Amino acid sequence: MSEAQQESFSLTAQSPFELRLDLSRNVPESLVKKALVSGDIGFLHSFTTGSAVDGPGVRVVAWTAGCQWKCRYCHNPDTWNMINGMPVKLERAVEELRKYRHGLKIMSGGFTLSGGEPLMQDRFAVKLFTAAKAMGIHTALETNGYLGARLTDEDLKQLDLVLLGIKTWGPQRHRDLTGKDIGPTFDFALRLAHLKKPVWIRFVLVPGLTDDVEIVESIANFVAELGNVERVEVLPFHQMGQFKWKKLGLDYTLNETQPPAAEQVERACEIFRGVGLKAY
Ligand code: SF4
Repeated sequence: MSEAQQESFSLTAQSPFELRLDLSRNVPESLVKKALVSGDIGFLHSFTTGSAVDGPGVRVVAWTAGCQWKCRYCHNPDTWNMINGMPVKLERAVEELRKYRHGLKIMSGGFTLSGGEPLMQDRFAVKLFTAAKAMGIHTALETNGYLGARLTDEDLKQLDLVLLGIKTWGPQRHRDLTGKDIGPTFDFALRLAHLKKPVWIRFVLVPGLTDDVEIVESIANFVAELGNVERVEVLPFHQMGQFKWKKLGLDYTLNETQPPAAEQVERACEIFRGVGLKAY
């Protein structure tokens, strides 16, 4: 991959909902493997700036490509495949953050790495967080937690906050919804609790799929016991990613599902509040 090829991709997207495909198709597999080990190159969907919903304050968000889960409600299935991301040298990503460092501090914001699943590229993630911290930028990782064991306790020191997605409750339900086991996510949640690392829990409320009271209560009880969870965000399901499933020829099972009403979201929040958590 030449410098010119790398620089030809625009790092910033209008929104994470932009469909981006095949940006790394010319990158040899050997280079991808080397990059994953060294962390010197990341595969990114894009950067977006000015986010007010991906951690405290105003955030710059880098969206990574690659996720081993297949959530039925995923709104960014183009980020499942790492090859769809653009190859970005670590220095270029760091420079992008440097541009915003003063503004981020003034707006009590920071940098969030999201995806896809950022820990598919754990070495790149840690190097980028380390550089951000060195610039005095608040750091947050949004993750499904499945690969949390890839991070050492030392790596976790580069993180100010973890936004941990909990998708549903129950091993079978979790496999049906995501294609993967729930265990590693819970292990990671318990480890973060042990380390007293600040965590925000993110839970997507999908009518007919995750809105069962038993599911919400079970998650609430688990989360309340952790002791390090600063807030729970109940995110209403939406259809903004539906077009991506169609374009990618994927089998989308939620065509008929409506977003939850505001009262349904509020009822779920009340369940979390009922066990002493802050929920929004
Ligand atoms: S973990 Fe996130 S990126 Fe991965 S499939 Fe689920 S919703 Fe999509």
